[in-house]
Amino acid sequence: MAKVKVATFWLEGCAGCHMSFLDLDEAIIDIAKAVEFHRSPITDIKEIEQVDVGIVEGSVGSTEEEDVLKELREHCKILMAWGNCACFGGICGMRSTMDKEDALRRGYIETESTYQGKIPHPPGVPQLLDKVKALNHIVKVDCFVPGCPPAPEAITYALTELLAGRIPVIPIQMMRFD
Ligand code: SF4
Repeated sequence: MAKVKVATFWLEGCAGCHMSFLDLDEAIIDIAKAVEFHRSPITDIKEIEQVDVGIVEGSVGSTEEEDVLKELREHCKILMAWGNCACFGGICGMRSTMDKEDALRRGYIETESTYQGKIPHPPGVPQLLDKVKALNHIVKVDCFVPGCPPAPEAITYALTELLAGRIPVIPIQMMRFD
């Protein structure tokens, strides 16, 4: 049987969602057998090829992240938002509570440990968007796996459903920690 082609992306996030994927224990063996990884933080492939499933960790806070997300959307049949940052904005989305220039000034000039700080504007470096966005504010998202990070059980469930040809809807009990 042909393997399912998967690309995973890490936008504005902390890598915790990808770390949770590595925490699937023995379930990762069956999933790895059925999946062919294309561009991903664990493959270092630079191009975005046509894939069956695109999985995105992190929110969208810069022009480059917006471009990457749109390109991935054009190259995947199913797009999965992975973790609270991708689903809702999450921790990164807290920047949206303030003006972009205020956030830059606080980060580069006003922090207590900064001496003679200045806001960098090097040419060619992607610019921050005015507000941090969840994925579905920019492109169509087919399924959501919330959590910070998502529980390994939720990731296993989502991937197993996808491999069975179904769009996963994560059961509520997999979205809370008892
Ligand atoms: S959802 Fe949590 S674990 Fe995942 S990238 Fe955001 S902050 Fe990190």
